[in-house]
Amino acid sequence: MCEDVRERGAAAVREYTVRFDGVDRPTTLVPRDVLAAALAALDPAVAAALRTAADRARRVHEDQLPAESVTQVADGSSVTERYVPVRRAGVYVPGGLVAYPSSVVMNVIPAQVAGVSQIAVASPPQAEFGGQPHPAVLAACELLGITEVHAVGGAQAIAMLGYGTADCAAVDTITGPGNVYVAAAKRLLRGVVSTEAEAGPTEVAIVADASADARFVAADLIAQAEHDSLAACLFISTDAALADRVDAELELQIATARHAARIKEALAGQSSCVLVDDLDAALAVADAWAPEHLEIQAADADGLARRVRNAGAIFVGPYAPVSLGDYLAGSNHVLPTGGTARHTAGLSVLAFLRGIHVVTCTKEALAEVAPHIDALGGAEDLAAHVNAVRIRVPADGADGTAGPSAKETNEVPEAAAVANDQVASDQAEPQTLEPQTPEPQTPEPQTPGPRTLSDDPPLREDLRGRSPYGAPQVGARARLNTNENPYPPSPELVRAIADAVAVEAAGLNRYPDRDSIALRGDLAAYLGHDLTVRQVWAANGSNEVIQQIFQAFGGPGRSALGFEPSYSMHPIIARTTSTDWIGTPRADDFSVDADRALAAIDQYRPDLVFLTSPNNPTGTAMSLEVIEQVCQVAPGIVVIDEAYAEFARDPSGTALTLLPKYSRLIVTRTMSKAFALAGGRIGYLAADPRVVDALQIVRLPYHLSSLTQVVGRVALAHCAELLANVAAISADRDDLVAWFREHKFDVAESDTNFVLFGPFEKRHAIWQALLDRGVLVREVGPPGWLRVSIGTPEENEEFKQALLAVVA
Ligand code: PMP
Repeated sequence: MCEDVRERGAAAVREYTVRFDGVDRPTTLVPRDVLAAALAALDPAVAAALRTAADRARRVHEDQLPAESVTQVADGSSVTERYVPVRRAGVYVPGGLVAYPSSVVMNVIPAQVAGVSQIAVASPPQAEFGGQPHPAVLAACELLGITEVHAVGGAQAIAMLGYGTADCAAVDTITGPGNVYVAAAKRLLRGVVSTEAEAGPTEVAIVADASADARFVAADLIAQAEHDSLAACLFISTDAALADRVDAELELQIATARHAARIKEALAGQSSCVLVDDLDAALAVADAWAPEHLEIQAADADGLARRVRNAGAIFVGPYAPVSLGDYLAGSNHVLPTGGTARHTAGLSVLAFLRGIHVVTCTKEALAEVAPHIDALGGAEDLAAHVNAVRIRVPADGADGTAGPSAKETNEVPEAAAVANDQVASDQAEPQTLEPQTPEPQTPEPQTPGPRTLSDDPPLREDLRGRSPYGAPQVGARARLNTNENPYPPSPELVRAIADAVAVEAAGLNRYPDRDSIALRGDLAAYLGHDLTVRQVWAANGSNEVIQQIFQAFGGPGRSALGFEPSYSMHPIIARTTSTDWIGTPRADDFSVDADRALAAIDQYRPDLVFLTSPNNPTGTAMSLEVIEQVCQVAPGIVVIDEAYAEFARDPSGTALTLLPKYSRLIVTRTMSKAFALAGGRIGYLAADPRVVDALQIVRLPYHLSSLTQVVGRVALAHCAELLANVAAISADRDDLVAWFREHKFDVAESDTNFVLFGPFEKRHAIWQALLDRGVLVREVGPPGWLRVSIGTPEENEEFKQALLAVVA
């Protein structure tokens, strides 16, 4: 089955689902509204319990996160251990006889805490629930903010997660319990993905002395047996009288137990009572069996617990039963069974993290240890190893090209030089694990297909009748409609750009640097805030940056939330990427009300939240506190569009300061406004390196031309000159706002290079009358309002005179 899913993908999954679950689904994806409906219908007491369970588990698993360690091995030589989460995890949640929403919590929380950015849950479809997974499982997913749930069960689900299908991208790690077929498939896929310990039938061992309460012991044996007739329950007692009392209790309690049949089967089958001489012997028995759960109900329970070597989890004293751990202790209930606790731990954040050693060394420090590498490389007969070191730090008296063994062959130094280059480029920008993008090829000419009745091209249904974005590009003396910077580059800068372009033009037969490393490095340096090249990404205008964000994090079945009026391209790009757009209104003063924003996020659980600050077209900036509150509750990516940041009256209000705290925060910027480079088409963003990595998946190869890259770099090198006008523009803006007030216009606060004013009963007539007088402004924003960009002082004056004339 796994092979079949690997080869035929979604078609094979669909067939197996028909065969084993009696359900035919064109797609495995569970729609978002089904998830939301499941949570809405969930018993509030269960929802509250799941929330508490999740909160407690989150606290425990957060404390589990390993700290990065830096070891200074010698002067100039260090090893850092960095823990990096896998990109994508799959969680299997069984359906079967009983549905376990608690399993969703126990698997999803450690993955979320570890920082896994994509979590896909798979759970079998159930005919009785309309072909969707069990509603309790769906509700738990919704409650935890999981948006990608697949209705697939059994081995085919594991194969789908491991190999990927059209509906479900392949994951890196799979966790979650399942039946024997699920376990077999996980074993088969080991190596393709990592998996946690195989979960077999459940087990408990209870170590007890005379102080134990027989009722508690019996209740816990029964609770374990209730899971499965294959459950194994071992009662290890130092006291024969206690064993008798437990026997009597078992009889009593089983008589009224709900699942008496399977409890009896489990207790009569692979379960047992072991009488031992003392507690040392009790611990020896428990260690030898290495149970999934170990309870210690004895006078010195704490002391005994400290001596246990083998157990999945230990429950200490009379009031810490396994049932507490199953649901609410905060500990993880996914634990090793079948004796594997001898070598394996229960599920934790570590299942989703990899420690990566990051090695740095100076030339001097390398020279220091080179003799040892000579010795070890010589002993292992690996001459090229020795050479790779000696080519950098020649032994005293050597000629500097290679160590002694390298002289035997001409090829070694060259190979070492290649390795050297590799190291250098890796340090600048670690290679992603993506397959190398193939060179783009010209498509084969297509033979024309059959003509359709209409000559209209077969545009997507949802795009029909739409018109392209566009502020009118009409001639006017004062063009104050697209928030451009009115000051063109100086003749010196024009020359510097032209010279750099001329140099670049000589190499135009080659593709540009696909990753724009140099430009991104310059942008990182410009932004400051200790940002590095790996946290910065650039594209053709911030419009393209935003499009790539939607392509990577939005898309069919996903949603984005914005606060309107705001930048009109956000909903437009949402539409073209088939992302649901949820527009919520701003307050009357165009601010974003924190309570309403948080309520909207809670209600819609959007995959993306867009906040434009300072905002276009209103000009208003948001407070960092509100932005931070949004970051705290948003389930997915939060984008702060800071296209106009440089014009803000309080420049310290930038969301760049929040980046170290929020790994799903993206701050977008542009060179089109403050930098006066709208024609250069360069936008950029700053975010966690993993977000930047994710964007590389959707970017087209060589999207930024070499000319664009070099123009951006020259502009950044002249940033002082280019930004010199920002202060003047901001001051003119403040003057214009004051002027509007003096003349009794309504006007919005502005932290940008434009001002929103109005409202006018017939704004189009005002717009046209201004244009007739040579002044082009923008008809945009709430009904009746107009927006004017700050121009040169002459243009601003012309605008004011024209407006007074028009309204007179
Ligand atoms: N974001 C906002 C808020 C904008 O107003 C604009 C342009 N008007 C952009 C992004 C896009 O700018 P560009 O593509 O030129 O970087």
